[in-house]
Amino acid sequence: MSSDPARSKARPKTRRRLREWRGHSITAGFVLLWLIGSLAIYRDARQMIVDTEAKIRKEMSLETRAMAQTLAGMLERTYLTIRTVSLLPAVRAAVPHNRANTDEDVVEQGYFSDRDTTIIQQLYNHIAADIDVSEIYLVYDGFDPEQGQVPFLMFDEVLLERIGLAKEAEPTHDADEPEEYEAAEYMEYVQQLDHLRRHAPLLPVEAPNGIAAVTSALLRTCDNSQYTSLANGDERDSHGLLLSVPVYDLSSKQFKGLVTAVLRANVLEAALLGWPRLPITELDKRLLAQRHTDLSTAPAEYVLENRETGDRIMDRRSASLPRFLGGLEQPAIHLEQTLELPYSSAWHLHRYKSTAHLDSAIAPIQRDMWQRLGLLSLLLAGLGLAVERVFAVQRKSTRTLTRMANYDALTGLPNRRLVAEHLSHALDRQQPGNSQYGVLMIDLDDFKEVNDTLGHQIGDRLLIEVSQRFVHSLRTSDQLFQLHNEAAPADEHSAMVGRLGGDEFLVLLPNQPGLEQILGIAERLQASLLEPIDLGQDQVYVHASIGIAVHPEHGSDGPLLLRSADTAMYLAKRQGRGQTVVFQQDLDEKSRQRLQLLTDLHSALTQKQFVLHYQPELNLASGRIDCVEALIRWQHPTLGLIYPADFITLLEQSALILEVGQWVLETACRQLKAWQDAGSGIEHMCVNVSLRQLTQPGFAETLQSTIRRAGISPGNLSLELTESMLMQHPEANIRLLHELRKTGVKIALDDFGTGYSSFSYLRQLPLDVLKIDRSFVIDTATEQGQAICQTLAALAQRLGLKVIAEGVETTEQFFNMSEVGSDWMQGYLISRPLAAERTEQLARSFDWQAFKTDNGLHGHSPDWAPRHPSSATQPS
Ligand code: C2E
Ligand code: MG
Ligand code: MG
Repeated sequence: MSSDPARSKARPKTRRRLREWRGHSITAGFVLLWLIGSLAIYRDARQMIVDTEAKIRKEMSLETRAMAQTLAGMLERTYLTIRTVSLLPAVRAAVPHNRANTDEDVVEQGYFSDRDTTIIQQLYNHIAADIDVSEIYLVYDGFDPEQGQVPFLMFDEVLLERIGLAKEAEPTHDADEPEEYEAAEYMEYVQQLDHLRRHAPLLPVEAPNGIAAVTSALLRTCDNSQYTSLANGDERDSHGLLLSVPVYDLSSKQFKGLVTAVLRANVLEAALLGWPRLPITELDKRLLAQRHTDLSTAPAEYVLENRETGDRIMDRRSASLPRFLGGLEQPAIHLEQTLELPYSSAWHLHRYKSTAHLDSAIAPIQRDMWQRLGLLSLLLAGLGLAVERVFAVQRKSTRTLTRMANYDALTGLPNRRLVAEHLSHALDRQQPGNSQYGVLMIDLDDFKEVNDTLGHQIGDRLLIEVSQRFVHSLRTSDQLFQLHNEAAPADEHSAMVGRLGGDEFLVLLPNQPGLEQILGIAERLQASLLEPIDLGQDQVYVHASIGIAVHPEHGSDGPLLLRSADTAMYLAKRQGRGQTVVFQQDLDEKSRQRLQLLTDLHSALTQKQFVLHYQPELNLASGRIDCVEALIRWQHPTLGLIYPADFITLLEQSALILEVGQWVLETACRQLKAWQDAGSGIEHMCVNVSLRQLTQPGFAETLQSTIRRAGISPGNLSLELTESMLMQHPEANIRLLHELRKTGVKIALDDFGTGYSSFSYLRQLPLDVLKIDRSFVIDTATEQGQAICQTLAALAQRLGLKVIAEGVETTEQFFNMSEVGSDWMQGYLISRPLAAERTEQLARSFDWQAFKTDNGLHGHSPDWAPRHPSSATQPS
């Protein structure tokens, strides 16, 4: 129980906030972790992308520089070779003479010796082995194509050989170059001669260094190799450029002509691709196949540009290069390198990298980044779920534990602990004022009998139904108070129905205007039990005893209030079934005594404190005391002799009645046997039996063996069962009585007339004797009472039962009861219950005539005699 109610009220709220805070901080923690992790992954990926870009740029730069060197090497070697040709003494010494036409043979004509042409041929072979320079021409100043002049060719043998091979591969080509193409090329020679004459008129002093060179724009050249290239169908393959150096006179060192190398554009393009040649002709393809050149490379990203002529050479397969050059697309990377040549810086090499290309290099990094982010998210989500799961399990088990600790498992109502805590808490916070706090202690009447006769499962169902009815009747109460349940946390203003255990319930009623309202609620609770409870085969009527205590009059704190309610409830029990009692201060002493008795009862049997007294019953047919009723007494060590009215109910409420009842049976049977053996005249014994004994499994068998052990005949034993007891569960009890009767014992209905048994049940009960209750016997003084007794006796006779009148105290009662046809008389008039010895004495010494005389019975009627002189001497 809480010692500080303010704190205990604040606690659930704080706990809830704490739980919420914990939940939020865990979520925030996971989000933070995710952010940190994601940022780390992103930064790592970003760095990798930057590194990759830098690496690509660096590699590109190195490759571009290498490519620029390769190209510069080609152009430089071509320049050096034609420069060497131009410096040959044979070329410089020769009379400047251009070929008049293609038929003219310069060797034959004596312009060049065989040796000269051989040297030039060797030089040509030298360059041709390295670079696909298609032709080398020698043109002297004054070249006039309009006069039909043609340049000297310096390569014939090699070229012819090639052409021969090409012709084999391209059998369709047999015509020479059309003339209009030649004219364009020849005009270029005229212009180059003019240019060199003007800009490089003298052999430089530092020659061979410093010899000029001039490069033409790309044009359609007319050498045969170009011509055959056209078979591929791409015009670019017929293009070439003319790289020329000046020729100076040997002695005057004056400009004299030029030497030209015809450099095919597709040769440079092949160099950009890293291939030895472009596969243009069948011959090219064969040559490349022989060299096992892999042609399935990606388009090269290079563009070779001549700043002077504006010409550009590039991989024709590339779709993106023209877009970059046309400004239609921005490259991701653009590098530029000037070709270092001894005669020009006009050649530039460009390299481009497209965004898509760069992205494809970066894509795996990004893919990896997303994968890592996904993995991290999954990991954290999984972790989060696991943590949440752990907390959920913890929350659930906490909830279960709280429920188990505070609620009754059977009915779901708050248990004793929670009710007591709630009560204490509420009383601590109760403001002194107009309202009252009511406590109702409820105990079901005779619930133990239901449990014993119908079993615990049915008992449980009954408890559930009763608890639901209580809850329902409080909910529908016109007093608008909040009824606590498991879902809503209880505060001191909410009412509560709790189960204290067994068949005990407690109702807490806060804020009640007065006792009247509390009594009204108690009435409603009683009313909720008016309808029978349906338990499958059986329908059971339940009653409850309710004790009411009110704060602060009946107790200043929880425990005191509960004790008062408890005391009131016991008083209600004593008043009979279905009673409601409000606590009164002076009750408390009685209840204290009652509790003391209950404690003492537990040791009474072992301490042999019980004794049996016997009340004689006078047989009117024989005028003898042939029957006695065994009545228990408790010889209490301090309180003296205690009568059954003060302890039988206590015994019945505990299981003690079973042991004590068995002791009574054994003692009574042994006593009867002793009296029979002694010839006392007492032939019959009546023993009172409780419902709990009757319904105890195996009672009939125990009874039989008790009778057998005592050595009496079962027909000489009557079991007395009260009418009210039998009427609680008539059907079940009728079955039990039939079982019992098979043992041969007689069955008497005790206190007949007080239990409201219906005639139909009475007919079904296997009875032998009716004991008309003392209240009726007293009533015989009135005419109406006499009539009732006559009816009862007539009923008994109709059913074939013997009649015993109980509590006969006066001669008038004696006379009246004999008038209505009673068979035996029991009461103080004959004798009070006596100890065994005195009972026997009385039975032996009883004088019927003297009794009649003493009691003036003759006075009533001189020939008065028992009504059934022929009846048997024993109740049968
Ligand atoms: P009961 O079986 O009806 O017994 C008769 C009661 O009436 C006895 O009270 C007896 O003393 C009393 N009585 C007899 N004649 C008169 C009379 O003329 N006037 C008045 N005023 N009373 C008279 P007792 O012995 O106090 O027993 C009370 C009840 O306790 C019994 O009522 C019986 O129901 C129960 N009881 C007694 N002994 C046992 C027992 O061994 N087992 C059980 N289960 N119940 C017992
Ligand atoms: Mg009796
Ligand atoms: Mg009686």
